[in-house]
Amino acid sequence: MKKHNFYAGPSILPQFTIENTIKAIENFSDMGLSLLEISHRSKQFIAVVDEATALFKELLNIPEGYSVLFLGGGASTQFAMVPFNLLNKKAAYLNTGVWAKKALKEAKLFGEVEVVASSEDKNFSYIPKGYKIPKDADYFHITTNNTIYGTEIKEDISSEIPLVADMSSDIFSRPVDVSKYAMIYGGAQKNLAPSGVTFVIIKNDILGKVDRMIPTMFKYETHIENESMFNTPPVVPIYAALQTLKWLKANGGLTKMKEVNEKKAALLYNEIDRNPLFKGTANKEDRSLMNICFVMNEGYEKHEEAFSAYATAQGMVGLKGHRSVGGFRASTYNALPIESVQVLVKVMQDFEKSIS
Ligand SMILES: *Cc1c(COP(=O)(O)O)cnc(C)c1O
Repeated sequence: MKKHNFYAGPSILPQFTIENTIKAIENFSDMGLSLLEISHRSKQFIAVVDEATALFKELLNIPEGYSVLFLGGGASTQFAMVPFNLLNKKAAYLNTGVWAKKALKEAKLFGEVEVVASSEDKNFSYIPKGYKIPKDADYFHITTNNTIYGTEIKEDISSEIPLVADMSSDIFSRPVDVSKYAMIYGGAQKNLAPSGVTFVIIKNDILGKVDRMIPTMFKYETHIENESMFNTPPVVPIYAALQTLKWLKANGGLTKMKEVNEKKAALLYNEIDRNPLFKGTANKEDRSLMNICFVMNEGYEKHEEAFSAYATAQGMVGLKGHRSVGGFRASTYNALPIESVQVLVKVMQDFEKSIS
């Protein structure tokens, strides 16, 4: 039976990415060798990094003065690398979920942290508004998409101090005005590549302003100067990322992605709002286009397991909500075809009929 992949991460990738990566694992760049066994310093692989960097710049329209890096360690390593490199005295954080909390916990190791606003009072079901960004902080950190709770900052906010964004789960889902950010980073395993590579987009002139010593590997300048080749980068995930970037370009770029993502999300949110069995957990205006969270409505809780089993039997995979929210989470990343959302909606409707 056809599977519909709603996993939150690692998650669905374009078939194009998977097929081309398999081919390269068999024979990379006509070298007669596998991608698994070639030097990261071969000219063929350097060409991969160069092309991936160029496509990042093209697709996101990255202005002059920014570097694109492909690192190891996941977004979680960036939680520490950001304050290590940027925090002198004080940093400001928006607390919108578990990932934001993990990020600000690391920042506290390096200086004062001002949490400008938090949505923890309502289990992170909304994005705080009307907060003031302190002018005396070294940077302001946000998490644009809260993968676990299904809330998203869908517009680029303005900040007078350098803005740093964890975009792990909504990178490339919409056009972004990169000039508004000092730094954007994320683990690639949500919307770009298999796990193992972390992307960093950083404005060069924000660096070199902290007094502390920074170990070589944790210093952004090291990776900028060596074009992500200071040590062995994650070769296979970078190759796969390049395939996804090519797929994005061939499929209309980020304007088109946004259009399709909005369509997919509207389809599913409309069903959640219509179907008496279900209710959404995120504040409507803050609903994510990438992770759609819902639970059984009051009075229908006892059907949760049956719905889960029914959906699984119909080919739905990865619908289980994160343990801190419960219920269900349908992740609708770029590579998820609209047909999968249509099938899920049908499954919800058929289940409704089956119990009434
Ligand atoms: C998944 C995720 C992370 C953690 O990424 P790792 O690469 O596993 O460290 C951080 N932030 C957000 C928003 C995420 O969705």
